[in-house]
Amino acid sequence: MKETKTIDRYLTEEELEKIKQFSKDKETPFLIVNLKKIEENYDNLHRLMPFAKIYYAVKANPMDEVVKTLAKKGSCFDVASIYEIDQCLGLGIPPERLSYGNPIKKSEHVAYAYKKGIRLFATDSLEDIQGIAKNAPGSKVLFRIILEGGNADWPLSRKFGAHPDMIYHLILKASKMNLEPYGLSFHVGSQQRDIGAWDNAISFCKYLFDALKQHKIKLKAINLGGGFPTDYIHPTHPLETYTKYVTRFLQEDFADDFPEIIIEPGRSMVGNSGVMVTQIVMISRKSSLDKNKWLYLDAGKFNGLIETIDESIKYPIFWEHAQKSDRNTEKVIIAGPTCDSMDIMYEKYQYKFPKGMKEGDKMFILSTGAYTLSYCSVYFNGFPPMKGYILK
Ligand SMILES: *Cc1c(COP(=O)(O)O)cnc(C)c1O
Repeated sequence: MKETKTIDRYLTEEELEKIKQFSKDKETPFLIVNLKKIEENYDNLHRLMPFAKIYYAVKANPMDEVVKTLAKKGSCFDVASIYEIDQCLGLGIPPERLSYGNPIKKSEHVAYAYKKGIRLFATDSLEDIQGIAKNAPGSKVLFRIILEGGNADWPLSRKFGAHPDMIYHLILKASKMNLEPYGLSFHVGSQQRDIGAWDNAISFCKYLFDALKQHKIKLKAINLGGGFPTDYIHPTHPLETYTKYVTRFLQEDFADDFPEIIIEPGRSMVGNSGVMVTQIVMISRKSSLDKNKWLYLDAGKFNGLIETIDESIKYPIFWEHAQKSDRNTEKVIIAGPTCDSMDIMYEKYQYKFPKGMKEGDKMFILSTGAYTLSYCSVYFNGFPPMKGYILK
């Protein structure tokens, strides 16, 4: 797939115009979210994987309007804390549509979730299973397999899951504890570029489904987690290719006895719905011989752009006055506004912009609907957390 460098790959002219209008009297930085794109993303995924139950990962973008829009579509929700549980219940979502997917949780939070009606939990350790058995007896449990997360822009590896052999023993133990071993889960890494990662994970599942049958334990479900991509600078395969292959991998391993399938999209559901509007604070050089200009924006690592750590996620960035015909461009280093030297977004990766940009101009950071608004510091250097708006 070819890289295209113009804004029309991401936004229609009409959308861009609306965003420019909206920005006129607003203080930057802020995120503006187009709910229609989220509805389209939901419909697309549902059409491509009609057999899968969709649990939107709330952490990707927890705005009430986003959650409500997806609830209306019929989505279920993957929640990571009692606070997300309270938010969803408060919006009228019944507890049967929530899954407590975080394997790291306090026992009292498990008890709270149970009291509120949650009966589906993910786990990856004996300690957590004991907490669930005690505080949420009779619940369904999904056991998370550890994966490497290689080839993902944002890997999510190491911290979560357990080795398949350990999962096997955990399931045997859980089955004697007044819990229902319901199935397996995994996460191949967020913005995963290698579709083969699902093949590998699904074959671990097949192995465990078979091994546990010998103990008369019949697992019912596989939770495929997240990992589907959104549209940043470097293109991925289209979603149809992902779903086609993932479906094929499942059919190959589970042809005769297809399990219940859960999927937990975060980034792919909301990533392309958001545009961050920022302003240029300053453009300067460090010395007269310095080849690089520094472009300081009013948004940085501490207010929304934390996924630029190691330049992992490369957002498409455009100047408000950019023209398709711009030829005369120059390389800049892009940094944020705070007094922390870590607050540099891109230095290795060469962003090029037309000459003529100046202080006060707006810059649009695209595909920022996921993992931005909820990833802001609270008043570091006095900067308030970024605001979120809905595009009307
Ligand atoms: C974060 C998370 C997701 C969402 O992953 P994406 O790659 O953003 O789609 C899904 N499931 C779990 C358990 C997660 O922690």
